Amino acid sequence: MNRFDWDHTFYVDFDLESGFSKKAETTKRYLSQMKNMFYDTEAAEKILEKEDPLIYEFYELGYDEREGDLAFGTTILYPGQVGGEYFMTKGHFHTILETAEVYYTLNGEGYMVMENPEGDTVEMPLVKGQALYVPRRYAHRTVNTGKDPLVMFFSFQANAGHDYGTIETKGYHKMIVERDGRPVVVPNPKW
Ligand code: MN
Repeated sequence: MNRFDWDHTFYVDFDLESGFSKKAETTKRYLSQMKNMFYDTEAAEKILEKEDPLIYEFYELGYDEREGDLAFGTTILYPGQVGGEYFMTKGHFHTILETAEVYYTLNGEGYMVMENPEGDTVEMPLVKGQALYVPRRYAHRTVNTGKDPLVMFFSFQANAGHDYGTIETKGYHKMIVERDGRPVVVPNPKW
């Protein structure tokens, strides 16, 4: 995707409300690409009989993967649920596990769900106007518990890489589901 020469300065726009950029295209994740990541796969199949909702889309606005550079961009995570589980991103470990990431919430509300390879878990609310630091070694997934799109800016070491493997098969230890109209953290029965 190298839109610019290495070591060259550049501008890139993005809107602080919507997260959208005029200069780039988003990568889109539809329910059909994520149906097995939600706990209630039957509920996912039921939705897919009628439609294939866009769960989230994101911009990669930084440089290609190179040590010393920074990746950054915005993610727009839409509101919705699958069998009571809120719409969420796939989530990942960094391939270079010892790399952190910062997320700034531009709009909306939700959770950052994190866990390390030892199985320690932490869930942090995402609050508009707050930056959240995702420490090294922690897999991270964002969950939209609100009624509006959850819009975030992120940045991390450009060559950190994304490891989806373990999460795609079993999921996270914790899930965020709606109970009595409110988001609650519950253990994932698959673990
Ligand atoms: Mn990351």
